[in-house]
Amino acid sequence: MKIYLDGQFVEKEEAKISVFDHGLLYGDGIFEGIRLYRNCVYRLDEHLERLEYSAKALLLDMPWSRAELAELVCESCRVNGLSDGYIRLIVTRGVGSLGLSPNSCPKPSLIIIADKIALYPPESYTEGLSIVTVPTRRTGPASLNPGVKSLNYLNSIMAKIEAAQSGALEAIMLNDQGFVAECTGDNIFIVHKGILYTPDVANGALRGITRQAVIDIAQAAGYEVKEANLTRYEIWNAEECFLTGTAAELIPVVKLDTRVIGDGRPGKVTQQLHAAFHEEVGTHGSMISID
Ligand code: PMP
Repeated sequence: MKIYLDGQFVEKEEAKISVFDHGLLYGDGIFEGIRLYRNCVYRLDEHLERLEYSAKALLLDMPWSRAELAELVCESCRVNGLSDGYIRLIVTRGVGSLGLSPNSCPKPSLIIIADKIALYPPESYTEGLSIVTVPTRRTGPASLNPGVKSLNYLNSIMAKIEAAQSGALEAIMLNDQGFVAECTGDNIFIVHKGILYTPDVANGALRGITRQAVIDIAQAAGYEVKEANLTRYEIWNAEECFLTGTAAELIPVVKLDTRVIGDGRPGKVTQQLHAAFHEEVGTHGSMISID
C-alpha cells in the first residue's frame, strides 16, 4: 500500500509524521472519509467542500486547490490499484513548537490513505443494529462545532467506549438539551407514518454527505423528509430507524436501549433507500480515469 504524504507516495511503513505535528500533539487538523465505488469517488466535490469549511472554521490555510486535492485523491486510488475502497484524507496543522498556538506551524501536512473499510459485521446489515444511548453528550456548537470534522474525536470515542461497555456497536449521543444529535460516527434517521425525520444539524450533528444523499434519494422517491428536534421518545415510537455514514453506508437499527423499534426487523423504507443508494454510488461523483 502506498500512502500520499506531503508531495510523494511512500510505502505504508515509511509514512511517518513528526512528533511535533500539532495534529498529533493537539488533534489540530481536519479529515474526510470518502468512498470509492466502481472507479467513482462518491460525491468527492461535496467532501472537499466540507474539508474547506472545516479548514476555514479552524483558520487553517490549505495551500492546495480543490482540483489539486481531487486529483491527488484519484491518484491515490490509481496508485493502489483500487476500484472500490475507502479514502482517508487528513490535513494536519503541521510541525510547530510545543505551545498550543498554530502560529508556530507554518506548513500543514497532507496525508491520503486509500484502503478498504468494514465498519460493522455483515449480519448487522441484514439483522439490524441494537444501539444504546450513552451518558456522554455531543459537543455543542458553542464549544467545538460538530460540523468541523477535526482530528479530535475524543467526544465520539468516549461514547464509543460507553457503547462497548453496554455490549453495543454504536451509540446515540444526545446534546445538552437532551435532543438526539447523532451517533459516534454516523447520522441517524427515523421513519414515522411514511415521513423521514433526521436531527437538524443545529442539534449537534455533522452535516453528513451520506445524510444528504439519503435526503436526496428519499425526496426523489417521493418521501417527505423533515429535519427536526428528536428525542428518544420519537425513536421508541418510530416504525423504522437507520444510520448513515460514508463507512457505514445505510445500516438499520432495530433496538434502542433494549427497546424494540417497529417490528424489530430492518424496515421496508430503509431497504428501499439502501438499494437506491447502492444504485447511485457508482455514478454520482468523480471518476478516476484509468489509462
Ligand atoms: N457523524 C460523525 C460524527 C461522523 O464522523 C461521520 C462520518 N464518519 C458522520 C456523521 C457521517 O458523515 P458522512 O456521511 O459524511 O460520512
